[in-house]
Amino acid sequence: MSERPEDRAGQTPRREGPIEQPVVTAQKEGADIGGAGAAAAATTPQARGPVLIVAAHPDDPEFGLGATQAKLVAEGRKVFVALVTSGNEGGEDPSVTDEELMCQREQEQRRASAVLGVETVEFLRYPDGRVVNTLELRRDIARLIRRYKPETIFTHDPSNFFSDGHINHPDHRAVGHTTLDAIFPAAGNPRSFPELLAEGLEPHKIKDVYLFFTASANVWIDVTGHVEKKAEALAEHKSQVRKPEELKTRLLEGSARAGEPHGVGAAEGFRRIVFRR
Ligand SMILES: [Zn+2]
Repeated sequence: MSERPEDRAGQTPRREGPIEQPVVTAQKEGADIGGAGAAAAATTPQARGPVLIVAAHPDDPEFGLGATQAKLVAEGRKVFVALVTSGNEGGEDPSVTDEELMCQREQEQRRASAVLGVETVEFLRYPDGRVVNTLELRRDIARLIRRYKPETIFTHDPSNFFSDGHINHPDHRAVGHTTLDAIFPAAGNPRSFPELLAEGLEPHKIKDVYLFFTASANVWIDVTGHVEKKAEALAEHKSQVRKPEELKTRLLEGSARAGEPHGVGAAEGFRRIVFRR
């Protein structure tokens, strides 16, 4: 199930803080939960490695980081998208079967990703609205991490439970939580899920995580010039976005507001965790 787009279009964080230019500079204290001391990230060379996005539903990658995806692709980074569900609760017409809606939403996701230049989209096809942090899902996400060997992962902020007038979707929280559990220690520990080693998937450790749909952003990516692509991609989610022009206006306004405190034309905010190894 997806939230109504209008619930999320204006969700861009607006806290004071440094902005990332282009993807790996700037940080505030207390940002890491990996024991890393994220302040040193300000001196990290610009990342160039693959990016894996793990999200709950079709359209979450676009709402959460559509403009950032366009920017990453433009910078030459390989971006992979993995969806835990295919969004079969993302509608209110009981006459449509789960299979029909899943098929439609997977097609919409592939088109949206194609707009952003993302070539690889994978669906784990867990039931929409029922995602919980299980060992099975943790293993499935660890498998993706070992297969695609990302340097950076984007996923939901599992700590974002509620705010005034808004409850974050339980699937979002579950996917964010499970993905962090898959990152550490499962993906990087050869003794974790030995069946993955048996599949030929070697352990893999990533460098950093960016959490989207967050209420506690600590880094803002300058996406000036890429918000139109985000709107174009979201318009491909036709089952969810009824008024793409209105959404585009809100996205442009919201990202401009997010960028303004940081002196850029547009920004998307994330909570970033940096790992040292
Ligand atoms: Zn969602």
